[in-house]
Amino acid sequence: MASPWKAARVRAATTTIFAEMSALAAATNSINLGQGFPDTDGPAFMLDEARAAIASGINQYPPGRGIAPLRKAITDHCERHYGLRYDPDTEVLVTTGATEALAAAIFAFVDPGDEVIAIEPFYDSYAASIELAGGGRVGVGLFGPDFRLDLDELAAAFNPRTKALLINSPHNPTGVVLSYEELEEIARLALVNDVLVICDEVYEHLVFDGARHVPLAAFPGMRDRTVRISSAGKTFSATGWKIGWALSTPELISEITAVKQFLSYVSGAPFQPAVARALNEGDSWVDRNRVDLQGKRDRLAEGLRDLGVAPSIPRGTYFMTTDVRPLGYADGVEFCRDLPTRCGVVAIPHQVFYDRVEAGRPYVRWAFCKEDHVLDEAISRLSKLRD
Ligand code: PMP
Ligand code: GLN
Repeated sequence: MASPWKAARVRAATTTIFAEMSALAAATNSINLGQGFPDTDGPAFMLDEARAAIASGINQYPPGRGIAPLRKAITDHCERHYGLRYDPDTEVLVTTGATEALAAAIFAFVDPGDEVIAIEPFYDSYAASIELAGGGRVGVGLFGPDFRLDLDELAAAFNPRTKALLINSPHNPTGVVLSYEELEEIARLALVNDVLVICDEVYEHLVFDGARHVPLAAFPGMRDRTVRISSAGKTFSATGWKIGWALSTPELISEITAVKQFLSYVSGAPFQPAVARALNEGDSWVDRNRVDLQGKRDRLAEGLRDLGVAPSIPRGTYFMTTDVRPLGYADGVEFCRDLPTRCGVVAIPHQVFYDRVEAGRPYVRWAFCKEDHVLDEAISRLSKLRD
């Protein structure tokens, strides 16, 4: 029950599906393939660096935009991987995870009445932040069973109220990695419609089968209208550290900083030098982790296939999707509610990421960033679905 004081603006804000499902996993002693977090740690040298930072007294407020070595590591990493140059003093902002970077960017640029076009299904914080800003969201679908972006639908979604385009690739929850040609067309549409582009690239390094992530900011004419957002959480298996960042022009970064300073001011002092080191020295760890994750993806996919539910094979992220209709369910929420008691496993229903709920109804998301024996045990438990 809502209190009589609850603002209309936060009507839709309830416990996130991830928190709800993780609590259900704990309460039922289930294997949690719901909330996306790895069950092993990131690079040991990065963890050591954070411990050393605490021991050496790096425990007070860091500078508002983040410590200089981290800002430099972020811009060096971006140049090394994508040939995209940013000035570490004026074009980068360290945030409390990508979540805060997304919220601060949305609050900085979206006025009541403005519209933001985003790929649907949407990561849950987009809907909440756009709503808190008083904006409207317009979804452009990646719908099952093939989850392909409809570029004509995207072109038709622009109107005079469109302020920004929010693009997430690699995409949560579908695992789709937009192709070069799709990105090229998105860039063209952003330019002809003269809109700001906010790119959520938190899964930039989790791409498989030789797929390449290309930032939209790298396309001609795009850098100065694009805010690139990423985070250490996924790249270095440290989702609890909440060190994220935004890269853009000095003007846009100043405007995002003006909002960010009143959300959290700063955060994560001892984690900042550790993430700086990971960005500078962690490329080979990231490469190994990517290979490892591809193996886990294939392991879970094979197990699910053997159960009679062929998953869509993701080219990025650590999530895969299945249609639960072959298991006798029409509705993914119903399936996910039954699953812990039936099998002792937790998954996430797609439909919570959709405005057009019908489009997501039969799909379920499984996280495969878990140790092999955990995935095997999950598959073994799921075999009860055949009974
Ligand atoms: N965007 C997407 C698409 C995500 O899946 C997540 C969840 N990790 C985030 C943003 C939030 O990232 P962070 O944990 O760094 O705030
Ligand atoms: N990004 C993670 C996921 O999609 C969850 C993050 C969260 O719990 N807010 O599972």
